[in-house]
Amino acid sequence: MKNPKITIVGAGLVGSLFSCFLARRGYTVDVFERRQDMRKVNISAGKSINLAMSTRGWTALEKAGLREMMEPMAIPMYSRMIHQADGTIDIQAYGKEKEAIYSISRGDLNKIMMQVAEEEPNVNFHFNKKCVDIDFEKTKATFEDLETKEITESESDLIFGTDGAFSSVRYEMQKTDRFSFSQTYLKHGYKELEIPAGANGEHRIPTNHLHIWPREGFMLIALPNLDGSFTMTLFMAFEGKYSFENLKTDAEIKAFFEEQFPTAIEHMPDYIADWHKNPTSSLATVKTDPWFHNKVCLLGDAAHAVVPFYGQGMNAGFEDCRILDDIIDANNGENWTKILEEYNESRVADGQAIADLAVRHFVNMRDDTQDDNFLKRKQFEKVVMKHIPEFLPQYSMVSFSNIRYSEALAKGDAQIVMLKNLLEKYPNEADWEKAEVLGEVRNFLAKY
Ligand SMILES: Cc1cc2nc3c(=O)[nH]c(=O)nc-3n(C[C@H](O)[C@H](O)[C@H](O)COP(=O)(O)OP(=O)(O)OC[C@H]3O[C@@H](n4cnc5c(N)ncnc54)[C@H](O)[C@@H]3O)c2cc1C
Repeated sequence: MKNPKITIVGAGLVGSLFSCFLARRGYTVDVFERRQDMRKVNISAGKSINLAMSTRGWTALEKAGLREMMEPMAIPMYSRMIHQADGTIDIQAYGKEKEAIYSISRGDLNKIMMQVAEEEPNVNFHFNKKCVDIDFEKTKATFEDLETKEITESESDLIFGTDGAFSSVRYEMQKTDRFSFSQTYLKHGYKELEIPAGANGEHRIPTNHLHIWPREGFMLIALPNLDGSFTMTLFMAFEGKYSFENLKTDAEIKAFFEEQFPTAIEHMPDYIADWHKNPTSSLATVKTDPWFHNKVCLLGDAAHAVVPFYGQGMNAGFEDCRILDDIIDANNGENWTKILEEYNESRVADGQAIADLAVRHFVNMRDDTQDDNFLKRKQFEKVVMKHIPEFLPQYSMVSFSNIRYSEALAKGDAQIVMLKNLLEKYPNEADWEKAEVLGEVRNFLAKY
């Protein structure tokens, strides 16, 4: 199977990027997408309008030769700008100077990747084609055309399921023997709102930050767009005192925002109309094991849907593509059973680790950004990083490195315990730069 014929199901972010990787290899690639072609029809790219891209995403784009093309579309966010309930503002840097996560348009990213892949003569996209069945013995996918209802089949050497959190490829895999699967919903959902651009197309609040209005049990965030607007997302429980079920009428919505987010709504002239117009969506975590069966393999949300709080879902999916591509390289594109086994071996634990980290990060963003102990530990981390450059906080391991997620989870947790213990011993900032304190950190790093 030197030049396999490949079927990709789903032309979202991950399917489109993976088709770029495979296109360069000269493989024959057919990509089937349930929706219409978003380059021709003005449809929402689904989910969030913009996303935070971090190191793992950039590393994958670079390997696919797309980084330079995407960089001008990305807005760096160097820090969190925290809008506290009492009206004060705190700025918390994400990493070292110049380290940033980048806000980028989901739709533009998706369209460009499709365009690049489709420029190769060996790649074809088919739209309005919903996958309805997978034959694992014949490596055959069946599609229904959502306009004509016509049924077509695609038989190939390999099938890659990149059809998102509610993947039909995965659904078919769930029927196979010894396939583990879990799907867990948060009690919180989300709704998107907007700060439109200012009169001259400028951003109405400072551009290079991810803005957070943390409140007890819920939060509003904002990411900048190139057109001067900000996409806002409110994360809140479906039920309870502060909840979507309790915000139905204009008066309820207005009273809630005036009480909780007065500094945001002064820039949001249409928030009540946006509230009614935009859906309230749920948030699920999906874990699976294994990620392949015969010659059918999952990438992206189809294998590991994670809640969005760490800004890692797309990044993790892009990393899947890069790592699978590395494994194809290492095997000279031969022996696909071995390639898929190695991919599975190297990714499943990481998909599960980022799923757990993402759920936890919700609490970090929502509650810890106002918690004195958390803020003190962050200060301490800064001092440690100044003296020991190889020390990476868990957030940096996840967002600014390509260290395996499973390692970032285990090592990061151990580091947090070590830092907490040191802070109990040395609560005064004046002691933090002492040789004995930094020595303990170095000892920890040497042992880990
Ligand atoms: C509110 C929110 C904010 C987020 N923010 C971030 C962020 O800041 N950073 C980050 O890294 N990630 C973020 N994510 C996660 C990110 O959106 C996903 O991880 C990413 O979209 C996964 O890409 P994918 O291609 O695997 O799936 P999707 O983007 O869901 O694409 C799947 C594609 O498959 C198609 N499809 C589905 N079923 C079928 C079928 N049966 N047949 C054919 N085609 C089908 C769909 O139409 C779609 O085009 C966020 C998610 C949410 C919900």
